[in-house]
Amino acid sequence: MHADNSPELPAKDPDSAFFSPLFLGSAGENEAVLERLLTSFLRDHVHWRRNFHPEDPPSIHVAEQLRPAFAEAVGATEQALRVLSARLKRSLPLFSPRYVGHMTSDLLLPGLLAELITTLYNPNNVSAEAAPVTLDLEIEVGQQLASMLGFATDEASVPAAYGHLTSGGTLANVEGLWLHRALRFFAPSVARAFAGTELAVELGLPDDAADVDAWQWINRDADSTFALQDRLEHVLAERGDAARWRERLRTERVEHLGIGAWLSRQDLPAPVVIAPRTAHYSWPKAMQLLGLGDAQLWYADLDSQMRVDPMSVSALLDRAFAQRIPVLSVVAVLGTTEFGTIDPLHEMIRLRAHCAARGQSFLIHVDAAWGGYLSTLLRRSDGGWVPRAELRQRFRHFPSEPVYRAFRALPEADTVTVDPHKLGYLPFGTGAFVARDRRMTRLVGQRPPYLFDEANPALRRDRLGELGDYIIEGSKPGAAAAAAWINHRVLPLDSRGFGRLCANTLDASEALYDGIAACAERLAPRCRLLLPVEPDTNLVCLVVNPGDNRSPALMNRLMRSLFGRFANDAKSPVQLREFIGSHTSLLRRNLTPAAAQLVAERCGIDASLFVAEASARNDSGGTADHLFLLRHTLMNPWLTRDLEGGRFIDRYLDYLEASILATLEGFVT
Ligand SMILES: *Cc1c(COP(=O)(O)O)cnc(C)c1O
Repeated sequence: MHADNSPELPAKDPDSAFFSPLFLGSAGENEAVLERLLTSFLRDHVHWRRNFHPEDPPSIHVAEQLRPAFAEAVGATEQALRVLSARLKRSLPLFSPRYVGHMTSDLLLPGLLAELITTLYNPNNVSAEAAPVTLDLEIEVGQQLASMLGFATDEASVPAAYGHLTSGGTLANVEGLWLHRALRFFAPSVARAFAGTELAVELGLPDDAADVDAWQWINRDADSTFALQDRLEHVLAERGDAARWRERLRTERVEHLGIGAWLSRQDLPAPVVIAPRTAHYSWPKAMQLLGLGDAQLWYADLDSQMRVDPMSVSALLDRAFAQRIPVLSVVAVLGTTEFGTIDPLHEMIRLRAHCAARGQSFLIHVDAAWGGYLSTLLRRSDGGWVPRAELRQRFRHFPSEPVYRAFRALPEADTVTVDPHKLGYLPFGTGAFVARDRRMTRLVGQRPPYLFDEANPALRRDRLGELGDYIIEGSKPGAAAAAAWINHRVLPLDSRGFGRLCANTLDASEALYDGIAACAERLAPRCRLLLPVEPDTNLVCLVVNPGDNRSPALMNRLMRSLFGRFANDAKSPVQLREFIGSHTSLLRRNLTPAAAQLVAERCGIDASLFVAEASARNDSGGTADHLFLLRHTLMNPWLTRDLEGGRFIDRYLDYLEASILATLEGFVT
């Protein structure tokens, strides 16, 4: 018999032992931990209330609490909670290793507890005044995320990065675009406002307003725009009539005029944003919200690995340059929502330098909503980078050369989205926005920037503290900041902390990846089981093509039928499902012709039947415009743990194989 306090830890699997105290557990094994800590800090909160002004009379009388009406009212709450709790039983079992569907899993216990406990205090992180404690935590979390990505955060460095939390990745993407517009439109507005005035010479502007070349001004890079803003502040600080000049600039800016009036005053065509075809649907939303129009979202094609094709981005940049259309931003995705793939950010950085040489500039936003936390794998606890060779010893496949280079290029980006409510294992409602240069906050502040004296570090910090002034949201939960802060304290954002959790997700992916290869050998020649896209991270998509079938339409029919065994349909209880997965479609129109050819060859289908036209959506004549794939998000911490009955990842593979055989059985080709 084992001693109760020394459970035998699986030697082969030390990492999941490391974090087994950090989750509630798939069977609620850490119930006692949750209960003890929750009760303890709940009492703590109650005592805090009592000790605020201990001399105050209590507002609710004990005799009142003993009345039947009182008990009845409390009963109404309990009854409602019972109804709610009963309904919640139909929720998705996100905690279970049988759930490999979407980008969510069990939550980290430290963050969960911090969120529940802090909610009792209900701080509002709209400003330092409304949240004396949690706003500092949020700014610290912003700095932690910025450091994780490789940005300089030291206040003395120029630029110094900053970050803050948002309700999710969508809002962080919208904010990125909002700031990019503010920054890129700033210099032309300054030029228009002050050319030909007595400030012109000091600001390096033409003597005659008619000589302002808006194209040139909008193509100034970020650093020289910040420098222009610094100079303007300096010039105005010396003048008694600064307010008049500020007002003049204010009325010239897009934030005042609106996009249409601003563009026609500047005589510029509508600017475009270039994003990969894998871009999340928050990007067209952002274009719509900012009045830029989703028609101005130019999509770059993908290569056969579902990464953006730099040649395609380059061709779009050339087209914009030839037509003198300003490019506001280029978006790179670090961890696409559908495939987990990593765009070659380093190539976008190269293109930025190339374009700068011809007087074309753009900002780079990295949508790392999913992949952001994976950079902890590359971050040493001393702040340095983990070399690729070291990672290659730890993993079987990760990271490929382009994936590693993309992560290393992160500090060159202008702005980044990270979602702590995805790979940060926090409750929903926690996204994050990070920017390389905190001077960005001055461009959108609703209060005049001169109120925040840059020379005074105390005030500079206050500037970041006035969150509601320079971000999109207003009132926001301080509890989310506390939760992220606690998680990052228990698991620092480096390879020895959070990185171990991320590593575990990659272990599960690699186990699945290799298991699928073995399974494919057993299933041949009855069908081809394969990964149409090589996984860059911890999302794995697979497809099954029966026999010697060449039709993508027929393959899709088989896949839809197979997916039926992994789908969570509302008709039957989720408990009847062995495993729950998700699906995605690989669209032909998103691929370059060469990439489509390669994908078709991999799957063994006829490339001429894999077509871009929407009319083929109904699978007519064996053609299809998409490939239906089974998609797995492998973030559950227990997938690779040795358990009675085997590892869940192996049980999944067994179930997959049996499901494929059963589906083939009933399938008439
Ligand atoms: C999830 C995701 C988003 C959107 O984030 P929400 O938190 O759902 O608003 C944006 N981009 C990518 C790449 C994502 O994976």
